[in-house]
Amino acid sequence: MIHRLHRIVQEVNRAPDIEFALDLIVEGLIHDLKADACTIFLADGDDPELLVLKASGGLNPDNVGKVERRFGQGLVGTIAQRAESMNLIDAPSHKKFMLVPESGETDFPVYLGVPIIEHRDVLGVIAVQRAGDAFNGDEEAFLTTLAAQLASSIERAESQGKFKTEKTAHTVRGVAGAPGMAIGEAVVLNRGVNLDSVPDKKAEDSTVELESFNEAIRKVCEELTHQAEIMRAALPEEECALFLAYAQMLSGGSLIEDTEVLIRAGNWAPSSWRDTVEQHARVFERIEDEYLAERASDIRDLGVRVLRKLMLEQNLYLDFPDQTILVGDEVTATDLADVPLDCLSGIVSSHGSSSSHVAILAHALGIPAVMGVPNLPVKQLDGVQLVVDGYSGSAFINPDKSILDEYHQYLEEEQAIEQDLLELKNQPAITTDARQISLLVNSGLMSDHTPSLLSGAEGVGLYRTEIPFQIRDRFPSEEEQYLIYKNVLQTFKGMPVVLRTLDVGGDKPLSYFPIHEANPFLGWRGVRITLDHPEIFVTQVRAMIRADIDVENLEILLPMISGKSELEESLVLIKRVRGEIEEEQGRSIRLPKIGAMIEVPSAVYQIEDICSLVDFVSIGTNDLTQYLLAVDRNNENVAALYSSMHPAVLKAMRQIVEGARISKTPVSVCGELAGDPLGVMALLGMGIDSLSMSVGSLLRAKKVIMSFSYVELVELFEQALGMSDATMIRSLYAGELDQRGLGSFLRAGK
Ligand code: PEP
Ligand code: MG
Repeated sequence: MIHRLHRIVQEVNRAPDIEFALDLIVEGLIHDLKADACTIFLADGDDPELLVLKASGGLNPDNVGKVERRFGQGLVGTIAQRAESMNLIDAPSHKKFMLVPESGETDFPVYLGVPIIEHRDVLGVIAVQRAGDAFNGDEEAFLTTLAAQLASSIERAESQGKFKTEKTAHTVRGVAGAPGMAIGEAVVLNRGVNLDSVPDKKAEDSTVELESFNEAIRKVCEELTHQAEIMRAALPEEECALFLAYAQMLSGGSLIEDTEVLIRAGNWAPSSWRDTVEQHARVFERIEDEYLAERASDIRDLGVRVLRKLMLEQNLYLDFPDQTILVGDEVTATDLADVPLDCLSGIVSSHGSSSSHVAILAHALGIPAVMGVPNLPVKQLDGVQLVVDGYSGSAFINPDKSILDEYHQYLEEEQAIEQDLLELKNQPAITTDARQISLLVNSGLMSDHTPSLLSGAEGVGLYRTEIPFQIRDRFPSEEEQYLIYKNVLQTFKGMPVVLRTLDVGGDKPLSYFPIHEANPFLGWRGVRITLDHPEIFVTQVRAMIRADIDVENLEILLPMISGKSELEESLVLIKRVRGEIEEEQGRSIRLPKIGAMIEVPSAVYQIEDICSLVDFVSIGTNDLTQYLLAVDRNNENVAALYSSMHPAVLKAMRQIVEGARISKTPVSVCGELAGDPLGVMALLGMGIDSLSMSVGSLLRAKKVIMSFSYVELVELFEQALGMSDATMIRSLYAGELDQRGLGSFLRAGK
């Protein structure tokens, strides 16, 4: 059963369009459930409660596109309304039964219908019918499982199909990743390792495409023949024959010819090859013979080999458009390094959320990002014009004139606001009743130092050292690190610079230090790794302390502290390093201030113990929220549940502030909440007086601080704590912000 399910789902995922996908489901179900008929109704257009017959097998095909059912109407509408399946022996005798004239369905009275549900929305209904026995429990379970698995594929195929056929303005929604707006041209990321991710593209010159295709084929054939030679020494003849069979497939025949036809029709070689390989693989997959079905994976294997060569031939992306919008299934932090920063205007990714590191990095760079767009038609977007709205979390594909006009106007307004805010640059961040707040920046890139200074930042509150580690292909040496740290310490001379020790693991991988874990966020991460690898930690701390000699503004921050012992061990190592450097230099060297990140719930409950060991603590709201609410910060499925303004998170933070007050340990906040205008209000109200944020948020935060008194923010915070959910709390603060005439800042809140 699982094999059959898997096959149908895979076929649907690979289908070129929605009609094809639905026909595959109908055909597969009639076959696998020994049904006489199968119908699929899907919600259509703007009315989510109107279902239209989209595919039908075994019944009158003329009804497709014509028969409609509202929620509550007929069996299909009832299943949709109740979000519940129906298993009937005699459908025509059910009081909700509505005959579709001339459908032929009375011949098949046994009926099983199940709803297709994605994220609580009923997308449609799949029903099977037959003349014989009732559908048994196994069959019902099969259809229910299939419908659940297909829901997201159907939603995606529908959206992609719509886009492909209409090519008109199309809006997709995800989550707000990094604030800002941009208008630009999509560049689809393609690492050339996956047939599914090859984007559609028109060929600029079919002759050149054909040449590069033939060259790729020639090279793969050569490689295969060579491999067969090598293998001959180690493997029996039949095994080696496989390589030769592969080479044979590439030396002519329909795989090659069909691809050439598509190229001559004006498509670029990679997508022509992708479509041909898929079509051939599908033919094998449908054969009820395990051996032959396996050939489908051989063909795909071969497909990937040729694709890799083709992508090399294509010499991709040497020229990025001036306003590049990077698009992909999963845009990662390292992908940003592939695009020259002066061309990078926006990011749209099918996966991820506002707290994914790529989004945080984008925020630091002032690049708007929309994350977690479930039905992004990635393959069809290359070269297409996009508007990215990183405030609302939407993107407009092929925007029409009215959308473009609207966004050009927003961009102008935004520039005007930025211009006005510049006046605040040299003013202190001070509430109307004279409470002064320190505003610092989060950094990790050389390129954000100048804008940070220009915005009037009072130092660096969080320097994510993992970023320079991530953009290399090996651990940076002590000397390389020394130069990086020296640069930031010097740039901010006279101001505090908090360098955080390496925080990799979780969603921050190092290509040269792979970690394979089932549960990476609960695994080997941050200080847990560096304590297990003291050679990495010691090298880093040496580079930091050496860079601080003569500048003397370094503070060291330890990530992912979950208990006292990690802190004690880290302190021993840091002090030892300081001692070694003192010996080398023959003079005494200052011990930098040392702080702990409070981002793991256990640290909240041990705050007094932790404070007794450190000079300061810094709250990482991104991780603290993820761990307190048990909501993966990268998972778009639960993005709606992720909020740092959740009352539980606010209460935990207040507990930190109160615990730290006993030892007078300073508390700052360096998670994304610190740059959210509503977050700023809440954090001040709970007694925080030092915030570190992306440079782009700094002047807005200052304006918010200067518009309220500390006393009223304390009162508002007390009110907020009495509320039961994050939405209520946000609207309480939003109302207050609006009353001060700062409603336009609400776009910037996440
Ligand atoms: C945090 O967790 O809030 C934080 C600042 O660290 P990072 O986002 O790098 O995990
Ligand atoms: Mg963190």
